[in-house]
Amino acid sequence: MKIGVIGGGVAGLTAAYRLAKRGHEVEVFEASDHVGGLASGFPVAGTTLEKYYHHLFTSDVCIRGLVDELGMRDKLHWFVSSMGVYHKGAMYSLASPLDLLSFRPLPFWERLWFGFQSVFYLGKVKDWKKYESITAHDWMKKYAGPTIWKVMWEPLLRGKFGPYYDKVAMAWLWARIHTRASSRKGSKETLGYFKGGFEVFHKALADAVQKAGVQIHLKTPIDRILTQNGKLKGLEIGGLPQTYDRLVFAAATPIFLKTCPGLPEDYKKRMSQLDFMGAQCLVLVMSRKFSDNYWTNICDSDIPILGLFEHTNFAPPEWYQGKHILYVGNYLPQGHRYFKMGKQEVFADLLPYLQRINPDFQASWVEELHLFQDLYAQPVIPLHYSQVKPAYETPVENVYLANMALVYPEDRGTNFAVDVGNKVARLIDPSVAVPAFQG
Ligand SMILES: Cc1cc2nc3c(=O)[nH]c(=O)nc-3n(C[C@H](O)[C@H](O)[C@H](O)COP(=O)(O)OP(=O)(O)OC[C@H]3O[C@@H](n4cnc5c(N)ncnc54)[C@H](O)[C@@H]3O)c2cc1C
Repeated sequence: MKIGVIGGGVAGLTAAYRLAKRGHEVEVFEASDHVGGLASGFPVAGTTLEKYYHHLFTSDVCIRGLVDELGMRDKLHWFVSSMGVYHKGAMYSLASPLDLLSFRPLPFWERLWFGFQSVFYLGKVKDWKKYESITAHDWMKKYAGPTIWKVMWEPLLRGKFGPYYDKVAMAWLWARIHTRASSRKGSKETLGYFKGGFEVFHKALADAVQKAGVQIHLKTPIDRILTQNGKLKGLEIGGLPQTYDRLVFAAATPIFLKTCPGLPEDYKKRMSQLDFMGAQCLVLVMSRKFSDNYWTNICDSDIPILGLFEHTNFAPPEWYQGKHILYVGNYLPQGHRYFKMGKQEVFADLLPYLQRINPDFQASWVEELHLFQDLYAQPVIPLHYSQVKPAYETPVENVYLANMALVYPEDRGTNFAVDVGNKVARLIDPSVAVPAFQG
């Protein structure tokens, strides 16, 4: 079969790899000048770093299986992560049960309740279906109680989902907690990272894809899928029609709706009701360390930052010529004023807050500043998402969707992008084989 793949992110590349290995004639069309999509990197301190903070969980067996298949297990390093919380003028470590026991923003009994509920109860419970019909807001207010809700969960949900913070299903939060709990060894959380960045993985995957005969066309945005009588005809590339037997659309759903005019109106209407949050990360390459944590949740409604991710408190600074790297991360609704601002403007806006979190911090520590943003970075998961979630098969025959909106109940991530790529390839050709992760 002649198969077109739109999108050279992890999902698109994985689908192309699987299908080409079964002997299909596959081409990948990528709008930007690089592969890797949301997990792609940029050059920094003699190596590459992701535009948005990235790590793997030990439970990410789909991507770990592919990493092994590509013969690059030795490139994936596992580190104990350090987590903290900034709350009302103070920074707290929350890396261990002992830290939690001394976490002053919660009264003593609530510390125990929070630990029990989030690690032992939600971390272990498997039946997530019951969490489809209640929002995280309602569940947490009811079962965690008003103090834990106010201190821990409300800032997280507001930071991640902005105006939709009270609409997100508990199933989404359950999946987040569950994944993190499954990446713990004893009391410590272990996270994975590639030496040289995720770029090393993308390069190995793109090389394998090309070796299997696939052409990857960079800087080739597709803006029209050609259809006839509800069936795929082909693609319009540079104004010229090209025929394809199957098509995998591995970019965001709102782009799909614009690119495929042949979709029925009711499908378009249903899909356009699903919302997305955008993401923005300011990356500071610094001469000095900002904090002691890798991951700090900002639980303070006066500070317009979701979290700080000090990458070099995770991967060693020696990998970055001794520099210290901090991501200032935010999820923002479409149309947020930060999306219209340049990196210096966003930095100037956030500087007083960064100085509130660390009063010693000076702008002069920053040797390089980078700003990255994307409008479709996180699907908003409403109640009963399993009933409205897009399917791989679309109403247009032979056109398949393979993006993060299909990931559920788990939260989207590179592991699930590999999973989606594997699954769509198998739907197109049931003989596609995916070796299981051997541990
Ligand atoms: C802030 C942030 C932090 C994250 N942290 C983690 C993490 O720690 N661990 C983890 O595993 N995951 C993380 N993720 C998620 C992860 O990056 C994504 O889930 C994954 O990369 C999605 O891959 P994808 O291939 O489905 O889509 P994308 O990466 O979105 O790829 C889609 C591709 O399609 C291309 N495209 C768009 N339109 C067109 C067009 N018209 N024609 C051709 N090409 C087009 C785009 O340029 C892009 O390359 C994070 C994401 C964000 C935003």
